[in-house]
Amino acid sequence: MSYMDMFSLKGKVALVTGGSYGIGFAIARAYARAGARIAFNCRSQEHLDMAMTAYEKEGIEAQGYICDVTDTEKVRDMVADIDASLGTIDILVNNAGIIKRIPMCDMDEADFRQVIDIDLVAPFIVSKAVIPGMIAKGEGKIINICSMMSELGRETVSAYAAAKGGLKMLTRNICSEFGGANIQCNGIGPGYIATPQTAPLRQRQSDGSRHPFDAFIVSKTPAGRWGTTEDLEGPAIFLASHASDFVNGHILYVDGGILAYI
Ligand code: NDP
Repeated sequence: MSYMDMFSLKGKVALVTGGSYGIGFAIARAYARAGARIAFNCRSQEHLDMAMTAYEKEGIEAQGYICDVTDTEKVRDMVADIDASLGTIDILVNNAGIIKRIPMCDMDEADFRQVIDIDLVAPFIVSKAVIPGMIAKGEGKIINICSMMSELGRETVSAYAAAKGGLKMLTRNICSEFGGANIQCNGIGPGYIATPQTAPLRQRQSDGSRHPFDAFIVSKTPAGRWGTTEDLEGPAIFLASHASDFVNGHILYVDGGILAYI
């Protein structure tokens, strides 16, 4: 197999949850450029329209759905529709996620549960809907977007760290349970990536100085900068392609080295 073929996604069907902007958009775009047919979902018509325009501008034909990943029925319908129209899903990226930065003792249960629902329960729901098709096809790739918080705790992110730590273990479990069916399930643990989710951390203070956390991140990241969504494209293609067929149950941290240093 040539190196080009090894990394090619030609003929593959990929579903990227939360592909309307941010990391999900960049990964879906990379998959399309590598030859895959892509589907994505998000929660609002406004974001769906915005994303469709952005994909079109890139010359990409994407299939978009309004589907909250916590809604089991809607997820099942979306997966059935993709299977029927594009073909059985070969690659699933569980990317949709939220963060709530609230000190633990100020956080109410509803907020905690919402983060767990979207960041941990939803990857279970979507994977469960997709895995039977992968088993029938005899192959599949699942990529869970984890976080440095799969390894670390930090003030204000108790729910997020609990969810992303859980997602790391769900990744290992899917690997163990379905590796024999030729399904590889791995995670990507992004470091600090410039997206709408992290925009508040990059806002300038009223005196024009950097947000203290912004300065902290840059000083602690050996690469000396924030990550970009493009930094995740190569690792995401690797984990979706035949190049990673014997890689299973791993979390690939794409963090400019911060986890090694912090
Ligand atoms: P953004 O907030 O920029 O984008 C999140 C995406 O998820 C959007 O497309 C949003 O679409 C969608 N989404 C959110 N909730 C739901 C839901 N319930 N159902 C369907 N879609 C949903 O986040 P990022 O791109 O920054 O993050 C993507 C993933 O990477 C997340 O899992 C995040 O935790 C993880 N991550 C991000 C890091 C970073 O530094 N940015 C670091 C480590 C991990 P819409 O609003 O239109 O519904």
